[in-house]
Amino acid sequence: MVLMGTLLLAIALAPEGGTRTGFAPPAEAERAKAIGDTSALPTALRRAIEPGDDFSPIRRPKPGDWLAEHLEERETYDAYVERGFNKATGIRKVIYLQPIGEFPKGTSPPLDVLKAYTAAVFGLEVRILPVLDPAAQKLTRRKNPHTRKEQILTGDILEWLSRKIPKDAYCVLGITMIDLYPEPSWNFVFGQAMLTGRVGVFSFARYDPAFYGEKRGADWKKTLLKRSLKVLAHETAHMFGLGHCVYFECIENGSNHLGETDARLMHLCPVCLRKLQKSAGFDVAAQHRALEKFYKDRGFAEEAAFVAPRLKRIEKN
Ligand SMILES: [Zn+2]
Ligand SMILES: [Zn+2]
Repeated sequence: MVLMGTLLLAIALAPEGGTRTGFAPPAEAERAKAIGDTSALPTALRRAIEPGDDFSPIRRPKPGDWLAEHLEERETYDAYVERGFNKATGIRKVIYLQPIGEFPKGTSPPLDVLKAYTAAVFGLEVRILPVLDPAAQKLTRRKNPHTRKEQILTGDILEWLSRKIPKDAYCVLGITMIDLYPEPSWNFVFGQAMLTGRVGVFSFARYDPAFYGEKRGADWKKTLLKRSLKVLAHETAHMFGLGHCVYFECIENGSNHLGETDARLMHLCPVCLRKLQKSAGFDVAAQHRALEKFYKDRGFAEEAAFVAPRLKRIEKN
């Protein structure tokens, strides 16, 4: 999809049919090739991207899953480097989060937690901008004919964000609790990004069961937060030029439905970690320390248990 002369990536668009892609999971040799030659890397980074037992090869998709419906490029680390990407260098190295509309306390993921997680994953400074009021900024809105809920047109948001990119921004990510749509003929969209324009927007509205009129379970707040953190890291990684992962179970796997989003892991696989480290430039041990602390502080026991032994191995003398 092309808009305003810029590559646009539509994120998890509402699936309407679609064709089988015949996707077959890559074999071990292809996964190793995707990681690339690690022999000249600093020890910590080399250890961090050894597949070992930490990472599971990607599963064969079931009907309706992302890879059953979408043909994805199988981009290796070497191809990613060759293609080029925006690096977080010079003065452009702050990730900005732009709240669009209110984030009501108690029914939204807390902004300070979203900020802390983004800073941990990308190892960069993250700042939250003052709330953008969609009505005051005259962004195009409609009432969705099916849900009867308010939606904002993504193109208007992306255009607004593009005009206001701070000088020191690596990227600006619009985040909102209001539902989104990409054009009048579409039902909705979870999010949309201008990969080369350094702006993106995504909504957390549909991660709350109440959006669909369903009962909120006992742990709905944790589920809403976890889904929101995953999508935030996933979409932000797209801003660093990462496509959808086709090699391992990985936070960068595409997702066609909430079941897939919930099954998706919270961590980057070796291929995606190597790509992201190259473009964001973080110290991989410091990144793992920050993630371990975040998961422990926020009660994500499973994720903390994944990171802790990896950190030990990465830092071993
Ligand atoms: Zn994606
Ligand atoms: Zn990956």
